[in-house]
Amino acid sequence: MSLSLSQVSLSYPDGDAGRVHAVDQVSLHVPAGTVTALTGPSGCGKSSVLAVAGTLIQPDSGVVSIDGVDVGELREAQRAQVRRDQIGFVFQNDNLLPDLTVIEQLLLVAHLRGQRPARHRAEAHDLLDRVGLGGQADKLPRQLSGGMRQRVNIARALMGPRSVLLIDEPTSALDQARGRDIVELIVGLCHERDLAALLVTHDLATLNVGGAGGVDALVHMLDGRLEQDALVS
Ligand code: ADP
Ligand code: MG
Repeated sequence: MSLSLSQVSLSYPDGDAGRVHAVDQVSLHVPAGTVTALTGPSGCGKSSVLAVAGTLIQPDSGVVSIDGVDVGELREAQRAQVRRDQIGFVFQNDNLLPDLTVIEQLLLVAHLRGQRPARHRAEAHDLLDRVGLGGQADKLPRQLSGGMRQRVNIARALMGPRSVLLIDEPTSALDQARGRDIVELIVGLCHERDLAALLVTHDLATLNVGGAGGVDALVHMLDGRLEQDALVS
């Protein structure tokens, strides 16, 4: 259970003739049970790396492997299945549905996978307990704070067996103390559940690199390229 990118490049069309090279020959390996943080200035290509890692966009070249499977070799329907069943996504905005309660947000994931939500109720309650929202299962998103909503978002991303977690700027709407708590929660969950996680943030202070509850590795990106990859664990 791991995530690997090998020499991945991605460009977007830009104007009539040009292209923006958003990701340029990026290679990274995220072993199971670890969190790699990807940092860098706005526009350097972080979200594009996540989109490629999450099979949302096919790269121009290079290989993305999830649990050892080259996802570029799969048919689109199989890729969609990998996305739905193996990858958890957490974005900056919590994307919670306003009219569903907290527990329903989690059960919807099971429903979308064609599973019977009732069978997953216990799992959903366990996850909510784990993220510190045990008493909030019947609340609506508008009744929760920003930090709590982001915890719901994380719990939802972990429903069902997951091997990869992709997280984009989860703390940018939170103050620093809450941001640190969220990073610590993500790291704890990934270590416990043997998930390979790639965490994009420009907020270095929340990462607690090398500290207890901090991320395992830190990679810096600039202009589409990885600048350094310092393994800190
Ligand atoms: P970051 O997440 O680090 O801010 P992005 O991956 O969003 O960076 O963007 C990297 C580069 O690719 C930027 O120059 C951005 O303008 C460009 N870009 C991102 N998405 C698109 C798109 N859908 N179409 C065209 N250009 C894009
Ligand atoms: Mg981004």
